[in-house]
Amino acid sequence: MSTILIIADHSRGALSVATRKAVRCAADFCADAVDILVLAEDGADVAAQAARLAGVRRVRHVDHPAHAHPMAATAAPHILAALEDGGYSHVLGTNTSFGKDVMPRVAALLGVAMLTDLMHVHGRYQFDRPTYAGNAVDTVVAPEDRVLVATVRAASFEPAAENGAAAIENFAVAAELPGHTRFVRAEEHDSERPDLGTAARVVTGGRGVGSEQNFGVIYDLADRIGAAVGASRAAVDAGYVPNDMQVGQTGKIIAPELYICFGISGAIQHLAGIKDAGTIVAVNKDADAPIFEIADYGLVGDLFEVIPALKRALS
Ligand SMILES: Cc1cc2nc3c(=O)[nH]c(=O)nc-3n(C[C@H](O)[C@H](O)[C@H](O)COP(=O)(O)OP(=O)(O)OC[C@H]3O[C@@H](n4cnc5c(N)ncnc54)[C@H](O)[C@@H]3O)c2cc1C
Repeated sequence: MSTILIIADHSRGALSVATRKAVRCAADFCADAVDILVLAEDGADVAAQAARLAGVRRVRHVDHPAHAHPMAATAAPHILAALEDGGYSHVLGTNTSFGKDVMPRVAALLGVAMLTDLMHVHGRYQFDRPTYAGNAVDTVVAPEDRVLVATVRAASFEPAAENGAAAIENFAVAAELPGHTRFVRAEEHDSERPDLGTAARVVTGGRGVGSEQNFGVIYDLADRIGAAVGASRAAVDAGYVPNDMQVGQTGKIIAPELYICFGISGAIQHLAGIKDAGTIVAVNKDADAPIFEIADYGLVGDLFEVIPALKRALS
């Protein structure tokens, strides 16, 4: 009997697309059942969204004041209680900030190792995952005699369809929560633009953009084509943009249909974040920049001349 518990990632009452993708990944396990656990102060709305995902048997929500803000220290004991209660063989998280924070704690409390970034499922205990900054793919086999703890690489899966009708259950947990971690504040950047992690079109800028002010041309072009905006680590480190816009090995792993980058050289750590992108377009004034080796379309030119020309062509 193999049953999978997926830990929902949600924010401001909305279930994340990454959770929908984790559900799609779970379908490839051909498990006997897939359940979702929602931890929230009041999780009824998020549970209702999760219950619509195809292939889900049951959604359990733990409503507790400690889950008003996502915190790994308080989430992990409740996840453990749900695992013990449901007798699950697998527990999957997302490769979002929350998933990457909470799943190692779950593994540690269970006393097992964990797998990160599942990108292909060969069987219930055999998977592909990226290694060496995405330059190689490992096929790993996990032991079957313990609970398997893993995160799912969202960029590798489509979102699950929303035509399901799973049972919803309010799950009361008695587990004691640690008091040594408390929520202080969350700093979030409100944006009208599409979410970088899930957008179909992404425009990015690198060190070549030159300054925070110059990044205005990148935002402008992105808004013209309804794209999210990202950046290289060099642009983040130089203070041109906030660090939640970083794409790459130590930033966001994305899989847009269209990726257009300006003034980015194409370091392997950056390319690790766009491995699953559809069409890659690169603009760089250096004809020898490594980005041209992987770009589907490359243009050697100055971004400050190319972007205005592109905008004129678009209008
Ligand atoms: C452990 C580790 C993790 C890392 N993780 C990441 C990561 O997650 N993401 C990431 O991006 N990097 C990451 N890096 C950094 C990475 O190695 C590179 O340093 C970084 O990606 C370079 O950013 P860049 O391409 O913007 O800058 P550069 O390499 O300096 O390239 C700038 C490019 O802009 C071009 N240019 C300049 N002016 C113009 C112009 N006017 N018009 C057109 N082109 C122009 C130049 O020709 C050049 O190719 C990591 C590094 C390490 C060691």
